[in-house]
Amino acid sequence: MSNINHNIPLSASQLQLRSLESVWHPCTQMKQHETYPLVPIVSGKGVWLYDAAGERYLDAISSWWVNLFGHSNPYINAAIHDQLEKIEHVMLAGFTHEPVVLLSERLKKIAPGALGHCFYASDGASAIEIALKMSFHYWLLCGQPQKNNFVSLQNDYHGETLGALSVTDVAIFRETYAPLLRPCTHVPTPDWRYAETGESPEDYAIRAADALERYLAENHAQTAAFILEPLVQGAAGMGMYHSAYLQRAREICTQYQVHLIADEIAVGFGRTGILFACNHADIAPDFLCLSKGLSGGYLPLSVVMTSDTIFQAFYDDKTAHAFLHSHSHTGNALACRAALATLDIFERDHVIETNKSKAAYLNKIATPLTDHSKVKNFRNCGMIWAFEVETDDRDFAAKCFQAGLKQQILLRPLGKTIYFMPPYIINEQEIDLLVNATLHVLDTL
Ligand SMILES: *Cc1c(COP(=O)(O)O)cnc(C)c1O
Repeated sequence: MSNINHNIPLSASQLQLRSLESVWHPCTQMKQHETYPLVPIVSGKGVWLYDAAGERYLDAISSWWVNLFGHSNPYINAAIHDQLEKIEHVMLAGFTHEPVVLLSERLKKIAPGALGHCFYASDGASAIEIALKMSFHYWLLCGQPQKNNFVSLQNDYHGETLGALSVTDVAIFRETYAPLLRPCTHVPTPDWRYAETGESPEDYAIRAADALERYLAENHAQTAAFILEPLVQGAAGMGMYHSAYLQRAREICTQYQVHLIADEIAVGFGRTGILFACNHADIAPDFLCLSKGLSGGYLPLSVVMTSDTIFQAFYDDKTAHAFLHSHSHTGNALACRAALATLDIFERDHVIETNKSKAAYLNKIATPLTDHSKVKNFRNCGMIWAFEVETDDRDFAAKCFQAGLKQQILLRPLGKTIYFMPPYIINEQEIDLLVNATLHVLDTL
């Protein structure tokens, strides 16, 4: 027998120490935990996370942008419990089940355009891999194997597996893993923070789209797809842009026979104020990638939705003409059931409408923040808010995170950008608390 202490629950300090001995945490320089202790979470309810010492934190970033309707949501919990009594998981090759059928039918109804076919995976990066492979394979099946390159936006983020990282433009990742990655062109971002003084976000978006057009005019014969984060570039520090870019990008891709892949992994399901960011420009992509909020943030689930045209190209007697891709947990029944419950809540609670008044309330009370001397570029899109903080501190993000915890809020700045991406069930009192605590954090740093 080992001498590991199996007594649970573990105390806060046991959790912190034992985690550092055996858990390698994501996106983390582990050595920083010599200075900053881990936060040992034991439960959650609504917007609140509770730690082992009894402290609570308002989850202002929806646990990495995934949670939509709060932690331990009674309705989603009940759906998962019910599914657990039926079937937790069965492979999706050769088998099917009710949750995956119902979910696919509902997604078809709500997705932009006519994206009638749902291919499932477990996380966002895998959905990107699928869209890239499917796009290339489609052109191969059409006798155009030379269409095997991808274009993405400057500063775009699409996940961290090798294919997804190839189309990602985040300096630290690209530089480190460059020898493992396929070359990819990044065309200028429409993010209005890059506009010339006096240039409107719309004019700048159109100018950025001209650069895409120039690139595709030259290179469309070798290009399978253009992939982008519609409307908000999350990892770039919530860079926001005008929907005119989406409109033009759709026209340009159609004109040059290049697929348009919309990565709505972060912005899908109401984040930008309507169900999908593509809806702002009334466009439909050729591939729509969804994850994060898809299961309400409960369980790992992602989906790539695509058109009949693309599906039909693979429909053949030959095995090699099938789409050659699978994940063990593809279409997991519990995750699909959580997703169905999530879609129920959207309908039942008129979430898109309710979010409009919540966003208006936050914007109304945010004046002390927008007028704050350290705050630059305060911006909002649907249920996302972001601003840059004027500071020379290179350790700003870590210090802000710590200062936030002291004020009962979970903030995780991207560099010098503070952002809010709260669960949609946040109420006015909690919004007050979020804004006031953030002001307090700015003043203590
Ligand atoms: C989070 C994210 C991904 C990757 O999803 P994972 O589940 O973390 O692999 C891809 N694209 C965008 C826009 C994201 O925000």
